[in-house]
Amino acid sequence: MSYDRDNIFARILRGEIPCNKVYEDDFALAFHDIHPRAPVHVLVIPKGDYESMADFTAGAPDDLVAGYIRAIGTVARQLGVEESGYRLLANTGANAHQEVPHLHVHIFAGRPLGAMLPPGK
Ligand code: AMP
Repeated sequence: MSYDRDNIFARILRGEIPCNKVYEDDFALAFHDIHPRAPVHVLVIPKGDYESMADFTAGAPDDLVAGYIRAIGTVARQLGVEESGYRLLANTGANAHQEVPHLHVHIFAGRPLGAMLPPGK
């Protein structure tokens, strides 16, 4: 599937749409989710045209893969949630209800987050 260059996160990366920025470096941008589902709800996206972790890890250069993963850890540290705990989530594809077709990792924190998924197979 080809990457949609007009998805909302691509437009945020190009500066066409504002975001509430938390962190930025050469490899990644992090910003507050517009509809937070926890007291802390931040999205971390790589700087590149990748829709999923699968195509990112298959196609991105090593420095971008390393830089993106490092950025996720840096943001978690910067948010001060390491001690209390946090959850990383990357919805991918239809069954996971991925809404924005640009790779993003959610960081949720700030309250007990409950079970990983609702019960059920
Ligand atoms: P997902 O279902 O994993 O694709 O989640 C996409 C997330 O992006 C949702 O939590 C949305 O609230 C969030 N979102 C959509 N548009 C924006 C935006 N312009 N700025 C910040 N977050 C957004």
